[in-house]
Amino acid sequence: MSQLEQIFTSVRNEFPALTQKVHGKNLIYLDSGATTLKPKSVIDRITHFYSFETSNVHRGAHYLGDVATQAFESARNSVAQFLNARMPEEIVFVRGTTEGVNLVAHSWAMMNLKEGDEILITVMEHHGNIVPWQMVAEKVGAKVLAADILDNGELNIEDFKKKLSSKTKMVAFTGCSNVLGTNNDMKLLTKLAHEVGAKVLIDGAQVVSQAKVDVQDIDCDFFVFSAHKVFGPFGMGVVYGKKEILDGMSPYQGGGSMIAKVTVEKTTYNDVPFRFEAGTPHIEGAVGLHAAIDFVNRIGLDKIHSYEMDLLKYATEKLSAIPDVKIFGTSENKGPILSFNIKGAHHSDVGQILDQEGVAVRAGHHCTQPLMTRLGVPGTVRASFSVYNNHQDVDALVKAVVKAREMLL
Ligand code: PLP
Repeated sequence: MSQLEQIFTSVRNEFPALTQKVHGKNLIYLDSGATTLKPKSVIDRITHFYSFETSNVHRGAHYLGDVATQAFESARNSVAQFLNARMPEEIVFVRGTTEGVNLVAHSWAMMNLKEGDEILITVMEHHGNIVPWQMVAEKVGAKVLAADILDNGELNIEDFKKKLSSKTKMVAFTGCSNVLGTNNDMKLLTKLAHEVGAKVLIDGAQVVSQAKVDVQDIDCDFFVFSAHKVFGPFGMGVVYGKKEILDGMSPYQGGGSMIAKVTVEKTTYNDVPFRFEAGTPHIEGAVGLHAAIDFVNRIGLDKIHSYEMDLLKYATEKLSAIPDVKIFGTSENKGPILSFNIKGAHHSDVGQILDQEGVAVRAGHHCTQPLMTRLGVPGTVRASFSVYNNHQDVDALVKAVVKAREMLL
């Protein structure tokens, strides 16, 4: 066993979910693209918060309130460091990637876009990075364009450049496709967008768990992600925004905490990031995210990346060798995501047979219907890998796919 495999064998033991059987078989969890399992350290941290630190934040007046506030703001600091933001004020807590995109669309874009302006996305986007832009575009009379992909699933840079113009006011793209696995060159796309004066939002949902993100180096204006895809809790997410841009934005929702002063006639707003955090926030979500970031940092993103790339390579070789299996997304630079179909079989049937074998994958359109249209399929089966998977999991996947092929063709 290599040193890396030894490290990740012990990491695997930190995930209680993997000790259970499903349909009488050991659980082989290959659906981390949908959500990662949670390590014990994250579960314990949330339990500890509820057991001993439960209190509301930013309301002072008593000891527990201070403890909770400190834990919440310390989580914000940890996220700022994780993304290499310049300061914690650039980190806004939201419910997830989807709410993050909606915040930027409904606050920044609604204020800054007008009739005739354009929003450039890519054809590989998740619906969470398509629909909010369409909603804004419809209201203000702007247009949403999508850059195409190449047949190997990479972004077609020439098409991206062709669709950029002085009309483009926002460029919103995914750091990593949740279907093709393609990692986009975030720095290059940001530079190209800035050259025409557009702002940039990166959907980081599939990126943060597998690659180091440095928002200052990338120079994006906004970066959003969900805690649950990086070993953290559900209902928690982050919008990173450059301070000077956030400062100029109006609140997305109104209520407690986001105000400076309220009279019956008029309200003045709090400073960022609180201006965008109306009401009682998801405090244990922030605290759990902090524990998740500690978990990632303890292992190291470089090690996580090497390990996951090894699994992806092994799985790609093994699956490609099965007759009738077609893989979608063969870019050189991929995240740990492997989408495929068995020619002549429906993806849902394949998914069901895999489930009976204890292998949890996702089968469907993966909230990327424009991409499915581009690929000419109604859906795919998607296996996605994380720190707790190993070669035996891949072998179990391959065995189950061979069985599905025999049953369905
Ligand atoms: N963007 C990408 C690339 C995703 O994979 C997902 C979730 O699958 C989302 C956005 C939406 O994330 P959430 O449902 O956590 O808001």
